[in-house]
This record gives sequence, C-alpha cells and structure tokens, in this order.
Amino acid sequence: MTGEDRQHFTALVLFSGGQDSTVCLAWALSRYERVETAGFDYGQRHDIELKCRETLLQRMTEIFPQWQRRLGSDHRIELPALGKISESALTRDVEIEMHENGLPNTFVPGRNLLFFTYAAALGYRRGLHAIIGGMCETDYSGYPDCRRETLDSLEKAIQLGTETGFTIETPLMHLTKAQTWELAQSLGGTPFVDLIVEDTHSCYLGERGTRQDWGYGCGTCPACELRAKGFEEWHVKMVDATTA
Ligand code: ZN
Repeated sequence: MTGEDRQHFTALVLFSGGQDSTVCLAWALSRYERVETAGFDYGQRHDIELKCRETLLQRMTEIFPQWQRRLGSDHRIELPALGKISESALTRDVEIEMHENGLPNTFVPGRNLLFFTYAAALGYRRGLHAIIGGMCETDYSGYPDCRRETLDSLEKAIQLGTETGFTIETPLMHLTKAQTWELAQSLGGTPFVDLIVEDTHSCYLGERGTRQDWGYGCGTCPACELRAKGFEEWHVKMVDATTA
C-alpha cells in the first residue's frame, strides 16, 4: 500500500464528548483503519464535555476491542481567543435566549469554521485527510455553520489552501435525533447506547444533575430538549418494532 492509498483509510474526528460527536467517532471507527480525535478548548463556560471525552475514549476501547485497535492519538487544541471575542451563552455567563435574527445566543460565530481549519492543519501534519464532524441540519438550532452548504464551501477552501485532498464528512447531517440514536444502536448495540446515555454530555447548562432515560442534563435547555425528544421517538419506534 502506498502512502497515498493509506491516506484514504485514516480520519480525524472532531470529538467534543457530546452525543453527536461520539456517534461520529463510532461511525469513523467502523470505517477507517486509523482514527485520531481532536477536542477544542475555546473557553466554554462548562468544561464537563471535555472531561466526558476522556472517559468515553477509555470506555470505548475497553468495551469494543475492534475499535481499540483503530483508535490513535487524541489531540487537545487550545483556542482561548474564540471565547474571548465571542458573546455567546456558551462562553459567557448569560441566560440562553433568542436573538432578533432568529439565532439562539448559544451560537458561537466562526466556531465550526475555525475547528475544521485547525483540524486540517493538524491533519496535514498527521496524514489524516478525512475530517469528520457531527454537524446536523435536521434537528438543530439553525446555526449557519452546521449547514452542509457551508461545509462544502469550507472543504473547497481547505483543499485549495493546502493543495491536499481533504474531505469534510458529516454522517449525521440529514438524520433526525431519533435516527442518530438508531445509528448508535446499529454501530455498537446496546452497550454503545448505554455508554452514550451514561457518559456523553450535551446540556448547554453543564448540568449532570438527574439521570434521565436519555442521560444527564437539566432537561429544559434546547440541547437537552432535542436529546430527550429524539430518544423518546426512537424508543417508541423500537417498542413498536418489537411488539409488531
Ligand atoms: Zn440542559
């Protein structure tokens, strides 16, 4: 196998420790021979996700030997400037609310654009040319940098700017949250679903608090509401399928 060929079997996953990026990591581990992970510290108010990601990486290799063989280095990238220059409820101690433009103030402008650009810089050095992210434009908060159109354009810019065949892959882009749970089940069965429930974190308020059927969180912020609704829909469908 030439170096060129090998590049097609390696990937870098933007891995935050949330539900979506954890499913993306499992998706990548089921397809690529070598997978590395990148996590960004951008001064988010709650660093609970960053703590969860370490537990998840460890548990995924313990539970799934087939994934352990493929999982390579984890990279933490510090981007404190992003938190300093953005006025977001994820980086400032303010209430979550809607802006007049229809976007919630959890939107961090430029975040995904920067994440992929930094990931490409890292991937260039590590020979990882497929960059995978959990962005989704189905059940989402309207973030314009989660749209596939945005990422197609960014992918082109990165290809041109590095003269390298980088691809941006977004396996959850057109899935509902219920379908994301379904994908998790198909990738790693009940042990993987249980791991997502126990050890991923999506709550905007950073609360672990009460353990609900769908995991930990405040239960009322937009991220918890989406996660809970998706879990409920998926569960109803599963029960229907087993009793049909
Ligand atoms: Zn919440």
